[in-house]
Amino acid sequence: MNKSTSLQYLKGIGPKKIKLLERLDIMDIDGLLHHVPRNYEDRSTFCPLAQLKNEQTETIVAEVCGLEELKPRRGLTLLKVQLKDKTGSCVAVWFNQPYLKKQIKIGKELIITGKITRRNGINEINVKEFEQSSADDSLSAGRIVPCYPSTDGLNQRFWRDIQHKILKQYLDEIPEIFSEEERLQYKLFSVKKAWEQIHFPSDITSLENARYRLAFEELYILQLSLAILRQEATGSKQGYAQINNELCKKLVSKLPFSLTNAQQRIIRELKSDMEATKPMQRLIQGDVGSGKTIIAAWALLRAVGSGYQGILMVPTEILARQHFESLNSLFEPLGVETILLTGSLPLKEKQDILGDIKNNKYNVIIGTHALFQDNVQFFNSSLVVIDEQHRFGVRQRAALESKGMNPDVLVMSATPIPRTLAMTLYGDLDISILDELPPGRKEVLTYCIKSQAKQKLYNLLNRQLKKGEQVYIVCPLVEESEKLDLKNAIDVYEEISKKLFGWKVGLVHGRMNSVEKESVMKSFTDGDIKILVSTTVIEVGVNVPLATVMVIEDADRFGLAQLHQLRGRVGRGTKQSYCILVTSNKNTLALKRLKLLTETNDGFKLAEEDLKARGAGEFFGLRQHGLPTFKIADLQKDEEILLEARNLAVKVLREDALLQKGKHENLKKCVYEYVEKMVKF
Ligand code: ADP
Ligand code: MG
Repeated sequence: MNKSTSLQYLKGIGPKKIKLLERLDIMDIDGLLHHVPRNYEDRSTFCPLAQLKNEQTETIVAEVCGLEELKPRRGLTLLKVQLKDKTGSCVAVWFNQPYLKKQIKIGKELIITGKITRRNGINEINVKEFEQSSADDSLSAGRIVPCYPSTDGLNQRFWRDIQHKILKQYLDEIPEIFSEEERLQYKLFSVKKAWEQIHFPSDITSLENARYRLAFEELYILQLSLAILRQEATGSKQGYAQINNELCKKLVSKLPFSLTNAQQRIIRELKSDMEATKPMQRLIQGDVGSGKTIIAAWALLRAVGSGYQGILMVPTEILARQHFESLNSLFEPLGVETILLTGSLPLKEKQDILGDIKNNKYNVIIGTHALFQDNVQFFNSSLVVIDEQHRFGVRQRAALESKGMNPDVLVMSATPIPRTLAMTLYGDLDISILDELPPGRKEVLTYCIKSQAKQKLYNLLNRQLKKGEQVYIVCPLVEESEKLDLKNAIDVYEEISKKLFGWKVGLVHGRMNSVEKESVMKSFTDGDIKILVSTTVIEVGVNVPLATVMVIEDADRFGLAQLHQLRGRVGRGTKQSYCILVTSNKNTLALKRLKLLTETNDGFKLAEEDLKARGAGEFFGLRQHGLPTFKIADLQKDEEILLEARNLAVKVLREDALLQKGKHENLKKCVYEYVEKMVKF
């Protein structure tokens, strides 16, 4: 038996159970072991029946000595069971579960948790959880009892039995990855003790220690894996050899505006990064509209001026095209050749472009993920800029990096990432914060309105349209079904066309191919289409300065950070802009969340709120970053553990960068398995 032993070899698990376990993503013994309790019940002491107190929640163990079913009125069935122990008696009550009658037998012993109500001198226990106690009850009674996340058909007794069995048979085979010394220093349980105690804790302190050790391990392996993945991309680079800032100077002198102080500061940072022998690894965090693109342009020209190709990668084709157009208009007058490479190009054209990229006909290459496919070869790229980084996985980035010669890497994101998480994901990445908006920007006025109050909205839209301004209307993903989402967008499109008769309305959605999408986007950018109805395809980075109104339908269905991103599509010029959140949700919590948006334009603040509400894992989408999700660690709560684990990881790698030493054998295996998992995404 080893950890990838399939479940069918376990006694007590048939095909039916295997199906149910698969539904919980549990495929093998290791998966089972990692399926840790969601909470624990302290059943180490049962309350004697004579000591039950009114209004308290208690766990009791008692013998069934009578049972009756009552139907006090239609639709209500009560099952009342008389119970006794050595000290006294009470009555357990179940509501509307008549089928239990058959399961509960006189003379049997039950373990029951529930709230006590005293009625006419008799204690009634309103049953929250119960199970039959049995001769061998060491797992379900008289201890802290684990309760597992489950699915219909697998009860708690099953979980306890199976976990107990696995621990007994398999615990000895789990390799220890920490040395005794390390365990001592970082106060870590041994691997055996940790697994044993997380499933069947002997007391609360041991449980906490077990959790600590396992969370530490997860975060430790994660950081080592990232470091190993990154190792290919370190070493010295070539781009720094010839330094030429002429093109950059020309660019800045030709801009119709002057750079903000924050932009200038970050450019100075880039300059020194790019002149160093070590490859740059920098993340720029700047709120939507803070002017990150021009910084990217500067960096790209810095690479080109020094004789290298510069690459810009973005998550969507629409954004790639838009960057291409705006950057090309800046670069062309400087004699810099720029090309757009996307997945949807016709094959022949693509091949020609690929050939020309390889032959150094192009200096700047802009594209989507198509850029890191195997058939793309660069002549000599020294810089990779990645826009809207939070959409990219660790793995994609590694793939791109490995194509250049240890290129400088600049990632740009409007989504603020807490420092610890950034550190985890990007290791030695330096972070610059672009914390100043270009002058003259007005706050986007944000309002939340009920769906029924749309007439007001149409009035506002009419007024703005008459001033020559433009409007976005965004519809959310309503269902996990493109067809329904599309219908939703089309409905809105038709309604708007009717209500705002006379203005040209366009529609973009995920079902259109990129040529169609592009042509609609272009008409909107050119100001031909005045109102653009879309699904969320426009979310990131789109820049149409004349658009001043962003209407978001069913706004409550979006996360705060996403709403803020969408809002960032307007307010990009000097005109007063508006964001209208439409909702029919009456839930106070949902409305409170939307209200936050009406109160602040500060993306960092909103991200913090979102983080609080949703938790780090979900908000930052570990999966989006190409990382397996954690089973035990919680990035938000376990910051301290993260730092400790990082400490150790740095120490170990300093001594043994590739984990080749004999003493790291178990560790190396774990890390490489994890890397493997990352790469699968
Ligand atoms: P983001 O940071 O969201 O990517 P962009 O780079 O798209 O923002 O910039 C938003 C708008 O602000 C663009 O129209 C850009 O030309 C303009 N802009 C950028 N920097 C400045 C500046 N220093 N002064 C005035 N306008 C600027
Ligand atoms: Mg941008």
